[in-house]
Amino acid sequence: MNAPPVPDPARCALFLDFDGVLVDIAPRPDAVQVAPGILALLRRLAACLHGRLAVVSGRPLAEIDHFLQRAAPHAVGLHGAERRGPDGVLSRALPAPGLEKARHILQQAASDHPALLLEDKGLALALHWRTAPELGASALQAATRAQAAAGNDMALQPGKMVIELKPARINKGSALTDLMARAPFAGTTPIMLGDDLTDETAFRAAAGLGGAGVLVGPLRETAAEYCLPDVAAVHDWLSALTNS
Ligand SMILES: [Mg+2]
Repeated sequence: MNAPPVPDPARCALFLDFDGVLVDIAPRPDAVQVAPGILALLRRLAACLHGRLAVVSGRPLAEIDHFLQRAAPHAVGLHGAERRGPDGVLSRALPAPGLEKARHILQQAASDHPALLLEDKGLALALHWRTAPELGASALQAATRAQAAAGNDMALQPGKMVIELKPARINKGSALTDLMARAPFAGTTPIMLGDDLTDETAFRAAAGLGGAGVLVGPLRETAAEYCLPDVAAVHDWLSALTNS
């Protein structure tokens, strides 16, 4: 796979995952570091893309806005369950009916295994085992029980050393498709940069709209057309786009 060519900013829209793309993944979600210059880079990108820039993350929207200070005009949190536009207005999906049952089961798992980290995102729940790889199987079992208790309104989403229970039918691909149907995105070519399994739906959505996905990090089976090796390469590529 090749690095993506630098596109014409007058004709494209950019969708960026956060963890593993704009920032290096940290042992705990709250420990990521936003490198100096990233906020200024995002603001330059937003200007040269005429506002067609969205950060699309599995994190809660409030965390994205905390780390990036709203430098991207559009932000999507919880894989699409939360959104904010340049006017600052926030929209949020309703909680799944089985969410409380699932939360109880995962809280129990986290208290049985203190090295597991339960990240309560409000509408979604993530169980992390990054600091304790031997607990992966226990985490998956607990998440499977929690999904069964929650029912079909919630679905499991595997990630890197994490399993997440999120609202079913909401994913980054549907979020990208939805934004691309609206101003200022409509009529342009979407490019999605992501590193995780959760980004595959958005890679397929971008390709389906005539654009492409860019896989960041080690190669794997993917729907992305291009790849970049790491976060530093993403920063270089984004800088090249602002200079084109
Ligand atoms: Mg990521």
